[in-house]
Amino acid sequence: TMAFSEKEAALAAAPSDAPTVFDKIIQKEIPADVVFEDDKVLAFRDISPKAPTHIVIIPKVRDGLTGLSQAEERHCDILGYLMYVAKLVAKQEGLSDGFRIVINDGPSGCQSVYHLHIHLLGGRQMNWPPG
Ligand code: IMP
Repeated sequence: TMAFSEKEAALAAAPSDAPTVFDKIIQKEIPADVVFEDDKVLAFRDISPKAPTHIVIIPKVRDGLTGLSQAEERHCDILGYLMYVAKLVAKQEGLSDGFRIVINDGPSGCQSVYHLHIHLLGGRQMNWPPG
């Protein structure tokens, strides 16, 4: 068992605008299993999957979007586009029977990486409410 649970790690990850691991993935400094990429967004498999399909979709330029709580009106285009890419990737992954998208925000939302991202989860029956 891990000494430090992911939940505890998320609670300990104070909101910050410091560079994150996602910058290194965008710069190809660390490897990622990329499933979709264009000039605006990158989608890659989560390193700690919580479902048979678990993909993280991020904007390549953070532009202040450490989390959804930091969204400003100028972010509306990229926020909408991330949602659309989630749909495209869900189709690409064959999630024809349904899927879930999640955005964790802040300590209470269990956010651990402060670069806005959408989780795409699928390949199993989801439960409601989430934990
Ligand atoms: P959050 O907890 O909602 O902020 O989501 C961050 C996600 O990024 C978690 O599900 C992590 O497992 C995932 N993650 C962290 N580092 C990496 C990595 O290097 N590659 C892929 N996924 C990562």
